Amino acid sequence: MTSELKACPICNSKACAPWISPLNGVKYTTCTNNLCSLFHEQTAVEDWQSRPIEDALRSLLKEVKEDAEYWYIHDTKDRKKFYSMVESHRVLMEKLKGVE
Ligand SMILES: [Zn+2]
Repeated sequence: MTSELKACPICNSKACAPWISPLNGVKYTTCTNNLCSLFHEQTAVEDWQSRPIEDALRSLLKEVKEDAEYWYIHDTKDRKKFYSMVESHRVLMEKLKGVE
């Protein structure tokens, strides 16, 4: 059940097995790391799974990787474009540090 949940957005630890609140019927989870700020923070699973910035960065990273592969394979004479793609990839990887 917990394998369906994404890792903690703060510390990347596993999420607790979700439970349903008898008060409102909402499914909640927390972080399993007792040193993390989300350990005591009950978070609705719907919110826990929602990572719009992370998803957008992953999508952009995939696009840049595909572009870089294309330029590497098909147009190695155009080094300026290729190195620009490599630099974009490096910047995205910096932004994603700690997200994965
Ligand atoms: Zn955590």
